[in-house]
Amino acid sequence: MIPILGELKTGTTQRHLIKLPGAALADDEPRPVISVAGAKSGPTLFVNAGVHGGEYPAVEAVIRLGKSLDPKKISGTVILMPVLNLPAFRTRTPFVCPIDNMNPNRVFPGDPTGSYSEQMTYAVINEFVVHADAYIDLHGGDIPEALVPFVICRSQDGLADSKARDVAARSKEIAMAFGLPYVLAVSKPIQPSKGSSSYAAAAEKGVPSILAEAGGVGQMQEDAVELLVKGVVNVMRQLGMLAGVKSQIQSSKSQGKSKSQTKTTIRRAVATGEASSSTLLTKFEWVYTKKAGMWYPKVAPGDFVKEGDQIGTVGDLFGDTLEKIISPVNGVVLFLTINPSVLENGLLMGIGAKQD
Ligand SMILES: [Zn+2]
Repeated sequence: MIPILGELKTGTTQRHLIKLPGAALADDEPRPVISVAGAKSGPTLFVNAGVHGGEYPAVEAVIRLGKSLDPKKISGTVILMPVLNLPAFRTRTPFVCPIDNMNPNRVFPGDPTGSYSEQMTYAVINEFVVHADAYIDLHGGDIPEALVPFVICRSQDGLADSKARDVAARSKEIAMAFGLPYVLAVSKPIQPSKGSSSYAAAAEKGVPSILAEAGGVGQMQEDAVELLVKGVVNVMRQLGMLAGVKSQIQSSKSQGKSKSQTKTTIRRAVATGEASSSTLLTKFEWVYTKKAGMWYPKVAPGDFVKEGDQIGTVGDLFGDTLEKIISPVNGVVLFLTINPSVLENGLLMGIGAKQD
């Protein structure tokens, strides 16, 4: 089913050490991969973490799934890769791969003749993702980022082809089943770049896929690990790979609830990280500073902001304010840069919103 892993014995968990193809990757240490081949037949789910090397709760969640999933209870096969971007993990490098200084999550589906990150993403897409029936890429805030747990997937907007629309619809079902407070269904790349993100590239290959984020600031937060483990298990139920109640899929948390009730529910969900149903957002607005300096945010992850609100300032090293940072939308702060030192055009936060 996954040729690079060889034959998998049904009803067993196996450990593999995999050399990914690609000339730039020839000297790599092999990457650990765990296969959990269920006793009964069913879909193949591929889960990886460590596309960004400093997102540790995601890495730990994959390790824990490998230790805890019981192949005797599973229909289908789960393939787990704890760390894709091993060079970044080994060197504690946030956002990029230190070999080529590229963000791997901006060059999917990769290029077999490109730089290291392009060959690495090409290999994971072609050796793993395309052989799966669904794909989950686990992330969190990287070392300088805090966030509120959320899932991203490709929305149906702008897709004319009926197969692509179907893949997007199934991606959204998986995203809602995962069970984090927010789901962002987006149609455009978040940052202009050569390639796209894992979930978008996988969807283009016809594989329903999501990117789920929990944890951050370079630490091992137990609640974030548990959320990501539970989320994958929820998706396995949704795909029929595990017995148990499937998560309810709702188009919006606000249905049938008053505005203040909804706000309270979201606040509670944000506090515990657990969502009975996810709030669907359709716009991801990233806020940057123009000038380099010291960053003083006035908001925290999970805070609601209004268009025009002052959400922080950037000052110089004499203590004078260089720039007031203003919210461009009504929405919720999904991630926040928490390190005070920011560069020119530096990323400050991402705000999730609904399309107006
Ligand atoms: Zn990430």
